[in-house]
Amino acid sequence: MDMSDSNFISEINKRRTFAIISHPDAGKTTITEKVLLFGNAIQVAGTIKGRKSGQHAKSDWMAMEKERGISVSTSVMQFPYLDHLVNLLDTPGHADFSEDTYRTLTAVDSCLMVIDAAKGVEARTIKLMEVTRLRDTPILTFINKLDRDTRDPIDLLDEVEDILKIKCAPITWPIGMGKEFKGVYHLLRDETILYKTGQGHTIQAIKTIKGIDNPELDSAIGIYAEELREMLELVRGASHEFSHEAFLKGELTPVFFGTALGNFGVDHMLDGLIDWAPAPIGRQTDADIFVAAKEPSFSGFVFKIQANMDPKHRDRIAFCRIVSGKYEKGMKMHHSRIGKDVRISDALTFLAGDRSLLDEAYAGDIIGLHNHGSMRIGDTFTSGEKYAFTGIPNFAPELFKRIRLRDPLKQKQLLKGLIQLAEEGAVQVFRPLMNNDLIVGAVGVLQFDVVVARLKAEYNVDALYEHVNVSTARWVYGDPRKVEEFMRKTEINLAYDGGDNLTYIAPTMVNLSLAQERYPDIKFTATREQ
Ligand code: GDP
Repeated sequence: MDMSDSNFISEINKRRTFAIISHPDAGKTTITEKVLLFGNAIQVAGTIKGRKSGQHAKSDWMAMEKERGISVSTSVMQFPYLDHLVNLLDTPGHADFSEDTYRTLTAVDSCLMVIDAAKGVEARTIKLMEVTRLRDTPILTFINKLDRDTRDPIDLLDEVEDILKIKCAPITWPIGMGKEFKGVYHLLRDETILYKTGQGHTIQAIKTIKGIDNPELDSAIGIYAEELREMLELVRGASHEFSHEAFLKGELTPVFFGTALGNFGVDHMLDGLIDWAPAPIGRQTDADIFVAAKEPSFSGFVFKIQANMDPKHRDRIAFCRIVSGKYEKGMKMHHSRIGKDVRISDALTFLAGDRSLLDEAYAGDIIGLHNHGSMRIGDTFTSGEKYAFTGIPNFAPELFKRIRLRDPLKQKQLLKGLIQLAEEGAVQVFRPLMNNDLIVGAVGVLQFDVVVARLKAEYNVDALYEHVNVSTARWVYGDPRKVEEFMRKTEINLAYDGGDNLTYIAPTMVNLSLAQERYPDIKFTATREQ
């Protein structure tokens, strides 16, 4: 390494890599805008209107880009905040793309949960929180839309604790709500931060009043001052005190209140992220080694592949989370799955506002690698070591259709398109051992339409769906001799997936349980770690 160790360590220490989890409409996009505004990435954060025109498939970034004429490419943004560097990973909002979201959550070290103060805990938030619980990811919470009439803040915290099974430690406490929203009291700083409307698009000097007993507070917010003092006693009695240790274990979440639209409170949350969220954390490998972020040699894994981000280039970008060490332009990486070295001279970085070539990146960062077909979700890159990172899930699809061509001569393109879309995680494809069918499996209904549209647009293939008698699928493993026998006996229900993994495709759940009973030596799994 051509730089001093201390510089390398400080580069890693200043990074924070997180994602926002929320139910659609809670304010994820708006918060992202304000966060970028604080990161000086965008000078004037615009509001996005008319965005919800059913184009769920597009990432919010692309919509932002289009409507504001600025380039906020891709689903990864890097921006500076104070003396730190923050990586924010976007998670697609629509439930049908949950697989993509789950995998993105394997690439972050902490999450921000956004809750609409009028609605409380909603379905999608519950689902996403379940995923973060698998790795006990530390969670910060922002309760949004205090400029509207909301539910009682204490009730909201109770609901988070009851439903999501995580303790709440309020860091700020709201004063009033809706038209009477006066600001928040910061419990740790012992100061009141006053809210002013009409400041949504810029960073303004804000007025703060130090000390809860300060008479200035009474003159500033009148009767709300006394109410706040009484309320705080109740809040302190009924909620948990912040504990950094419990936060890092994922047992407790610091809670902030505010309004993203009014650009109020987002910076308090960012301060919390910088102060408390973990610097890049290492990852576990299949070789039973834990690779720490501060390990000097480069390693990383691909958690997402996105096609045609730039329609002019028709390229496919593999998003790689750097687990350890440092990326340098032109460096050689070892592609662990195929056992080959590759030289990477044109990785992309995602400095907010631009998608540009980069010279270096550190553990915690996301780099974009041009993928010409050799990269799959879950692939590991190292500095020569043979291990692979674990924990990047594939989920057994729950919906199946046979896909058929209108023009039978295009079978090759169809297969190519499907396999590429499967590598991206857009859909899963199964090829039965016994016939030439192509079966598409999806976790959500919308995926089917997206696949047909993309086959047409990107591969010039006209395809349609037919019913197929498959209701569930399981990946199968076992001792090679047992698997061989199993294959002979159940060939009719077997297929290879897009990555040539053997899969049992069952016409009914009953059929699946019978097969599981009859072949106890075979392991059937509903998720596959890549
Ligand atoms: P997403 O679906 O989670 O990305 O949510 P958006 O950021 O697109 O917000 C959904 C809607 O709520 C938009 O109309 C926003 O303008 C609005 N919104 C977001 N934050 C606030 C807020 O703090 N107050 C109010 N009143 N509206 C908000």
